[in-house]
Amino acid sequence: MNLTLSAVDDFCEVLADRIIDLSPTRPESGADLAVYGVPRGGLVPAALVVGALERHGQSAYVAEHIEDADFIVDDIIDSGQTAARVAEQTSAPFLACVSRRPDSRAVFVADEWVVFPWEETKIGSSEDIVTRFLQYIGEDATRGGLQETPARVVKAWGEWFRGYSENPADVLKTFEDGADKVNEMVLVDNIPVYSHCEHHAAPFFGVAHVAYIPDGRIVGLSKLVRLVDSFARRLQVQERLTNQIADTLVEHLNPLGVGVVLRCRHLCMESRGVSKAGTRTHTSAMRGALFDSPSARAEFFSLVRDR
Ligand code: ZN
Repeated sequence: MNLTLSAVDDFCEVLADRIIDLSPTRPESGADLAVYGVPRGGLVPAALVVGALERHGQSAYVAEHIEDADFIVDDIIDSGQTAARVAEQTSAPFLACVSRRPDSRAVFVADEWVVFPWEETKIGSSEDIVTRFLQYIGEDATRGGLQETPARVVKAWGEWFRGYSENPADVLKTFEDGADKVNEMVLVDNIPVYSHCEHHAAPFFGVAHVAYIPDGRIVGLSKLVRLVDSFARRLQVQERLTNQIADTLVEHLNPLGVGVVLRCRHLCMESRGVSKAGTRTHTSAMRGALFDSPSARAEFFSLVRDR
């Protein structure tokens, strides 16, 4: 969602009204309200709020320093981390134009990506973040080899995390009926898994083995590959990824049993922290007959052993 400057101005008008409501003792003679804008996104809103306050007859100014502020203004409350950091420095009320989720401190709730007029475009602002990251790790972000890197990183992230724009359940919507005579285990093994851990955004990768015992509904085998991929291309923990694959199969195919095994290497574990190269993490999720029946379970594990 691209916000226009006049939309932001409208939000700031509302913020100015709130500030006046929150300042019952004002205006005192000669008491100017100090409005601090959290850099960088809050700077323009702070100036607009001050303008609106002045129009309402409340003298106000943009504060240079947070400790002088009567009110703090920001463009967006995203994770809430900025507001929490600000609260450590001042007890002045925190207000924002937009919030990602319902929040009494914000004028407008936007559950999608918001681009403010001073941020150019969604792509542009994302590339800025990558450039800042390159600077943070000590790189010269202007050197030749890095010219295209922010754009490439944004594009690569789009692929690695495209699962957010997919509904994995859609993959299984077109099952085939008439599979009454199929009641043996169907197994697709060595399905590639490329995911990223939600703790470090570091890659984890390996294989998935997915089996189910049909009860009237079967799906094309390639659908199992797509189902794994769709859940993997998000920030994940391997345990949840394993369960999501199993539970989605149970929900949409209503099979007699489901078995899912994942074996993955986690770069966050191998290349940092404990630095154990080559270790694999095994997770499994068993449902229905594959959970209850020792013989079905044994058959499944004998098929996927050491794969
Ligand atoms: Zn990690």
